[in-house]
Amino acid sequence: MRLVLVGPPGAGKGTQAERLAERLDVPHISTGDLFRANLKQETPLGVEARRYMDAGELVPDMVTVGMVRDRLEAGDAAKGFILDGFPRNVIQAEALGELLVERGESIDAVVELQVPEDLLVERLLARGRTDDTEDVIRRRQQVYREETAPLLDHYRDRLVTIDAVGAVEEITDRVSDALRSR
Ligand code: AMP
Repeated sequence: MRLVLVGPPGAGKGTQAERLAERLDVPHISTGDLFRANLKQETPLGVEARRYMDAGELVPDMVTVGMVRDRLEAGDAAKGFILDGFPRNVIQAEALGELLVERGESIDAVVELQVPEDLLVERLLARGRTDDTEDVIRRRQQVYREETAPLLDHYRDRLVTIDAVGAVEEITDRVSDALRSR
């Protein structure tokens, strides 16, 4: 199973991706987590990514796509994967499509987690990550609307939309059920 999770910051992508990865026995690949790991280890990639992350902007596509390419080449991604936070714009989606064509693979489904906007800000402020200040949160929501939301149309033939308000377990079940009944 090759899945992409899409949703605005605060929709619970990370939580759901982790749970689904366990259920489906595939790796959870989060570009945000990969960037944060690089940042912590002060790698050149992390140093470059930092200023974009701190501002709530997207890290440049070349850097991001290169990082994902490397991650997909690790053996565990051969059996499938759940992408969380990537692609985040149409350019990245096209680059992912090309990477997968080279491997003779494709994305099976794109899961959109839908949450009303007022709930999102509340959740993010409660999370307390360093890029969760109110200004940066607002900018990340704007970037989502402008750059990421167009992906929903790009992937319309594979889109599975989930109401992502409710208990964590319930939402995971909704996604599993929706994927099974496709
Ligand atoms: P996330 O953990 O997915 O909320 O990502 C945190 C930050 O990492 C984002 O605000 C971006 O600065 C950066 N980031 C994560 N994924 C991507 C991506 N696919 N493209 C560009 N920047 C990204």
